[in-house]
Amino acid sequence: MKVNLKTEPLSSWINTNGKPMIIAGPCSAETEEQVLETARGIAAEGYANVLRAGVWKPRTRPGSFEGVGEEALPWLQKAKEETGLPTAVEVATPQHVELAVKYGVDILWIGARTTVNPFNVQDLADAMKGLDKPVLIKNPVNPDLALWVGAFERIAGAGITKLGAIHRGFSNAQETKLRNSPMWQIAVEFRSIFPEIPMIGDPSHMAGKRAYLAELTQRAMDLNYDGLIIESHRNPDEAWSDASQQLTPKALGEMLKSIEYRNATYGADFQDELDRLRNRLDNLDRELLEVLASRMSVVEQLGEYKRDNSVAVLQLDRWKQVHNSRQDWGKALNLYPETVEELFKLIHMESIRKQTEVMNQETA
Ligand code: PEP
Ligand code: MN
Repeated sequence: MKVNLKTEPLSSWINTNGKPMIIAGPCSAETEEQVLETARGIAAEGYANVLRAGVWKPRTRPGSFEGVGEEALPWLQKAKEETGLPTAVEVATPQHVELAVKYGVDILWIGARTTVNPFNVQDLADAMKGLDKPVLIKNPVNPDLALWVGAFERIAGAGITKLGAIHRGFSNAQETKLRNSPMWQIAVEFRSIFPEIPMIGDPSHMAGKRAYLAELTQRAMDLNYDGLIIESHRNPDEAWSDASQQLTPKALGEMLKSIEYRNATYGADFQDELDRLRNRLDNLDRELLEVLASRMSVVEQLGEYKRDNSVAVLQLDRWKQVHNSRQDWGKALNLYPETVEELFKLIHMESIRKQTEVMNQETA
């Protein structure tokens, strides 16, 4: 896919002194005090370039806190006056765009639940015609690169040139460690289509839990991301939304200090095609191993089930079926049948070993 959009580099719309752009702030604006106290804390730490806050919250289920709305916009103006930090809010409807502009919000972002819908994105694009503000577009909740690309085409079609991508991960069908699977490869592909669009990592929404923020932030920095958007709240445990993934402004500062920034390569374009391709391979291999680890955890559950129900580890008819279906799937993907065969022999052996281990454990 090759798509040409007219865009301006990050450095032309914000000065970060060559460092990754840091957008920090609460998931939601809740009260004037909460916004101001959090903003002061963030500004005092000195790491942030932009203050974020959700004013309209798209919630998966009704009945959750859906945002304060227009009333919160003057709080952000105040926070900006006090701290000097430009502000960013999520917009999901043309009316949000109008209000954000009216109250002088500096940067707009489109949320993951909006990016999925081309009708909504087009409505936003129409409302943004003639607007001279940066617009950041989060990846859609589902892992569909074309949908993400299409959203950029629509917004760029309205004449917006200060564009940025936010990689916040993709929702999972099953329970996983992370709230949203990063699927780093999709962001890497995105960057190969739009090398000039800054990529901003959102470890908060990938993680869902504070404990995973540092490793995800490190990963984004290892991938040369241009910035980060991270949720920070004066009192995270009491937050009205996304309580378990937010950090105090101070804890966020500590976390950011623990990250290794690859300054040598930061901001520089890939040396050459070879490096770029090797980088993609590295990411794909990491992902392969992550998929393998998820598979092993299902195998473990299967082992427990078999143990508790006295089912034998190996069932030949099932193995034959696995063997045949993988051969067919591999063929459809143009993989060498011998490779697929060898690979699944290994995987199967490993699964049997795991299950045997589980079978021999004491039941709780
Ligand atoms: C948010 O940034 O608070 C948010 C709602 O994120 P997302 O659109 O990624 O779910
Ligand atoms: Mn949030």
